Amino acid sequence: MSHIKDARKAQAAGLDEKNLYASRVRVYPRAVHGMARTFKWGVLAFCLTLYYSAAWIRWDRGPGHPNQALLLDLSNRRFYLFSIEFWPQDIYFLTGALILGAISLFLVTSLVGRVWCAYACPQTVWTDLFMWVERRIEGDRNERMKRDAGPVTFDKVWRKLAKHAVWLGVAFWTGGAWIMYFADAPTVTREFWRGTAPAPVYIFTFIFSAFAYVFAGWAREQVCTYMCPWPRFQASMLDEESITVTYQGWRGEPRGHGRRDPAAVKKLGDCVDCNACVNVCPTGIDIRDGSQLECINCGLCVDACNEIMVKTGQPEWLITWDSLARQKAKAEGKFERFHFLRPRTLIYVGALIAAVSVMGIALARRTHVDLAVQHDRAPLFVTTRDGTLRNAYTIKISNKTLADTEFTLDISGLAGGAMEVAESVTGRATRLTLPVEADSIGTYRVLVYGRPDHLKDGSQELDFLLRSLRTGETARYQSVFMGPGSSAARP
Ligand code: SF4
Ligand code: SF4
Repeated sequence: MSHIKDARKAQAAGLDEKNLYASRVRVYPRAVHGMARTFKWGVLAFCLTLYYSAAWIRWDRGPGHPNQALLLDLSNRRFYLFSIEFWPQDIYFLTGALILGAISLFLVTSLVGRVWCAYACPQTVWTDLFMWVERRIEGDRNERMKRDAGPVTFDKVWRKLAKHAVWLGVAFWTGGAWIMYFADAPTVTREFWRGTAPAPVYIFTFIFSAFAYVFAGWAREQVCTYMCPWPRFQASMLDEESITVTYQGWRGEPRGHGRRDPAAVKKLGDCVDCNACVNVCPTGIDIRDGSQLECINCGLCVDACNEIMVKTGQPEWLITWDSLARQKAKAEGKFERFHFLRPRTLIYVGALIAAVSVMGIALARRTHVDLAVQHDRAPLFVTTRDGTLRNAYTIKISNKTLADTEFTLDISGLAGGAMEVAESVTGRATRLTLPVEADSIGTYRVLVYGRPDHLKDGSQELDFLLRSLRTGETARYQSVFMGPGSSAARP
């Protein structure tokens, strides 16, 4: 039995009311080769390449505009995603994206367990990277355990120092790469090394680097087991038909060392109790104990066991990906199919289709113009010398395109109404033409004139209609025109 299992059992036995704190049992995962490991390396390489390089992808938006494909420009309150530019008003797209991500995660978990945790979660990816560095410098499991248990030697010290130096380098690279998504990557990199970058760049690089170093280097599996909420509620997405990493106990038990002699009185199962599956596990658990909260479903124990099965001349896949329902059937000598179409997966698929449709329609119908109108509160209206009523409004026109644009502004609902821009010399007109600079908000104070005899109960609904002369896109804002006797004007 491995030292981890012994220690865990001792912990469980020793946790009495006087000793509620259990110190960490260090996990020394052994290197392993196989299908799951190869796939895990592939996903890791893809994720890291994407993360470290995506901020450097250029996207020409014309002069005066950022040419970074992915940019969260907090100071100007814009998010650029290739050709799409999101304004603060588009925050609901972020909400939609989060909902889409959550439903997708629910669906995938209900089908194939914690594959997100196993392969694509940043904590998993960077922990794997840090473990790889550790193995290159300090050796594999046995070497590391022996050295850690031994006295302080020059060999031990330089290896530890080298490991932490590389870890800190990777953490710094990781933290620094995150900053690139919030500022122009080449510019901020230049400024960073020249010492001329703004203070928050240095502060946040330090904070993100520290998180990467502590979480991936030191905390590792403890983040998944104790800090992450996902393992706690992912159980509610799993059922008997979900495919998870499973030890085929019906085939492996009774476990034991020794020859598999068909003539022996005591027949042994396929598990040779070698602990290879435990020794490679990044969370230090024994999959043979059944489904556990700590299991991230990575399948490294599958690879380890397959190696052993080949060596002992037995069929592979003693540990495999399977559903509990199929395992129960197999234990009884029956065959059971995978069931992917189940009420819960169908509900998730339905919710996903609905969310994708809503997001797609919202994105397709998204315009590059917004109109906001605010009626002056004091005074609500002015009666001019010729008896006409005048209301004042602050008009805000959002030009979300990257070109200077002229807009026409019309009003409807006010018979005989006219407008003029306050403090302009153009005079009253039924239609105004208002220019707004590219990628900005144009603000105008507009005076609207109307006859009091057209008002009902002292007020009248009034629609402002905006139209881009360049793209033809329109926006409408419903407001009100007020006069004597309106409810808002009463004391
Ligand atoms: S038990 Fe197997 S699948 Fe689960 S975390 Fe450990 S190695 Fe990965
Ligand atoms: S690796 Fe396979 S044979 Fe070895 S202990 Fe684990 S389940 Fe048994």
